[in-house]
Amino acid sequence: MVASATLGYPRVGTGRAAKKAIEAYWAGKISEEDLQTAAKAIRQERWESQKNAGVDLIPSGEFTLYDHLLDHSFNFNVIPERFTKQGLSPLDTFFAMGRGHQDRAKGIDVAANEMGKFFDSNYHIVKVDHAPETEFKINRNQALEEYEEAKALGIETRPVLFGPITYLSLVRKSRDAPAEFKTLDLIEKLIPVYVEILESLKKAGAASVQLDEPILVTDAGEELGDLYKSTYEKLAAAGLPITLTTAYGRVGKSIEFLKELPIAGLHLDLNREPKQLDAAIEAVKDTKIVLELGLISGRNIWKNDLKASQAIAEKAIAALGADRVVISTSSSLLHTPLTTKVETKLTAEQLSWLSFAQEKCAEVAALATVLSGKESELFEQNTKDIAARREFERTSDSAVRDRVAAITPEMLSRKDAFPVRREAQKAHLKLPKFPTTTIGSFPQTKEIRVARAKFGKGELTQEQYETAMENEIKSVVDFQEKVGLDLLVHGEPERNDMVQYFGEQLTGFIFTQLGWVQSYGSRYVRPPIIVSDVSRPTPMTVRWSSYAQSVSSKPMKGMLTGPVTILNWSFPRADVSKEVQSKQLALALRDEVVDLANADIRAIQVDEPAIREGLPLRREDWDEYLTWAVDSFRLSTSGVENDTQVHSHFCYSDFGDIFPHIQRLDADVISIEASKADLKLLDVFAKHGYSNEIGPGVYDIHSPRVPSEQEIKDRLVAFAKVIPADLLVVNPDCGLKTRAWKETEESLANLVAAAKWARENL
Ligand code: GLN
Ligand code: ZN
Repeated sequence: MVASATLGYPRVGTGRAAKKAIEAYWAGKISEEDLQTAAKAIRQERWESQKNAGVDLIPSGEFTLYDHLLDHSFNFNVIPERFTKQGLSPLDTFFAMGRGHQDRAKGIDVAANEMGKFFDSNYHIVKVDHAPETEFKINRNQALEEYEEAKALGIETRPVLFGPITYLSLVRKSRDAPAEFKTLDLIEKLIPVYVEILESLKKAGAASVQLDEPILVTDAGEELGDLYKSTYEKLAAAGLPITLTTAYGRVGKSIEFLKELPIAGLHLDLNREPKQLDAAIEAVKDTKIVLELGLISGRNIWKNDLKASQAIAEKAIAALGADRVVISTSSSLLHTPLTTKVETKLTAEQLSWLSFAQEKCAEVAALATVLSGKESELFEQNTKDIAARREFERTSDSAVRDRVAAITPEMLSRKDAFPVRREAQKAHLKLPKFPTTTIGSFPQTKEIRVARAKFGKGELTQEQYETAMENEIKSVVDFQEKVGLDLLVHGEPERNDMVQYFGEQLTGFIFTQLGWVQSYGSRYVRPPIIVSDVSRPTPMTVRWSSYAQSVSSKPMKGMLTGPVTILNWSFPRADVSKEVQSKQLALALRDEVVDLANADIRAIQVDEPAIREGLPLRREDWDEYLTWAVDSFRLSTSGVENDTQVHSHFCYSDFGDIFPHIQRLDADVISIEASKADLKLLDVFAKHGYSNEIGPGVYDIHSPRVPSEQEIKDRLVAFAKVIPADLLVVNPDCGLKTRAWKETEESLANLVAAAKWARENL
């Protein structure tokens, strides 16, 4: 018998029940009891849908009201004093740790813990501070609670926790901790808490526990062999069989120590890294370890090719026997939407390609069924669907394919080097020293959203909608002129989202209605899906930028989302490499850039905030990725003459380890985040002698606070100490769409005044 498993499941609940209940609780509309009742119902629904799909090993304990790493810190009683001293209830303390807590009447104003990206996904974890004096004790035994809750419903589950080494690797080191302190130094203090939890689970009747150790797919994981051995010896003493899971990549050399751990099962991500199977089989052959094959992707939304997976699994079964093989998901399913069943606008053909969390559970079960020598209807249907999809894949757009194949090195470079271009741009744009500009979006008011929604529903005609947008653009342009900005933007009122907006105008994308994926806390995004070759049937933004330019004599900056960001914030197709998809996007954007320039828009910003998050987890894979990622940016921006100024924007500034690639983007101007960050980050640019223009954000747009003129002057003085003054551009650190008008007006007035001062004094 081959068993099936899933590593984790979306928290969202049918109809986004979790988001709704949590936000209603925050808004004071429902009580804590109501929230807990809703959460319990969602947990039940999650377990039942996995059970009904036929999954044998169903996870419990990985549900959360905010983030599961935060759960661990809270459950282990690592709650910084600034939260405990507020007199909040335990639940509100937990939420405060995730999202901060402000209550003027009670005099409470406490900032959240830092968030960080979870491996290479778009999910964010909450990283609580740990210091040498951090102590652990069980504040809440969530694994036990949820195991027992499921059991009471008649559902046997496999409790899930982060393994202690991954837990300590992901949390934050306190700023006040000594330089030599590493969070992993706390392992000896943490192990007893894990042992206690594992013992409690065993006592309650759990057959095994799932310990997630995805840190093992990073380079750092390979250095941790001794720590894994000593830690897992102690955990095994609790007597509960442990399945150690990895995900998001390959374990590499670590397989050599993993096979020696006292674990009952080892899970590998075979969807992303199928090649690691042979080494793993070889390594565990003479042990008793069960191999859990992560064949069904937890990261994409494509139907699995079950026949192909069957062949892979049979290899493992031949070597280890059916009892030592489990069919599993490659990672938790938390990165996928809940179910395709609620999608009413996709065609039957499109739906036949897709598999979200619920459908993936059925795939895991069907594969295990067939491998156990039984029949599965779903398996047979899957074979047909995959064949049809392969047929569809053959209907590629030959014009797009030919164009990608014909990309030449010359197409990746501007006509001349930056110093030559710069002179041409100066002559054309006539910008002053310390030119002022913004990152693109202006406040997205309710009126704008209402107009967009009405147009979407057909309640506004095309003409009425365009007039509404033009009026908005005109007032944004008028404001910028009045406040004295130098390089203007149209304000992006027509955009729902910086990726979706472009996806909707390109061929090759489809959109779900309810394909929500958790980004953090109660925030969910609905990534577009790339299904076929991408091209641009007609110009996408020229209309708006041209209109904006027509109502101003100052230069207008066009505004596009870059190829790598569109790709990273979509679900990519699985039949074509990311590199090819990125180049297809780049060619589409290249045409847009050229059209903008021909329409006399001679400054064009191509935003790439996602370049860094797409960075592979293994350093040895960086070069390959950065080569095509940077090439894609260059391809999209190099079709124009010297006098067009290419801008790019990133939402961060920690470029230390990828600096040469940022220089290689060869954007004429980049804008980066520098308002919150340590100025030290800018030193990287100074140290490497960054040669092009750069606009480190002079104030933080994530808060409604208005920066004073003096503060901005101080920022500019500080910037001018590390970066030559004639390369500096003055701008906020990101787009203004989430801000209100009042603070925007005041902040930008101060920004312009500070830039004027800088022109005279720096
Ligand atoms: N141009 C976009 C804006 O201003 C950039 C947003 C981003 O980088 N995340 O909103
Ligand atoms: Zn940004």
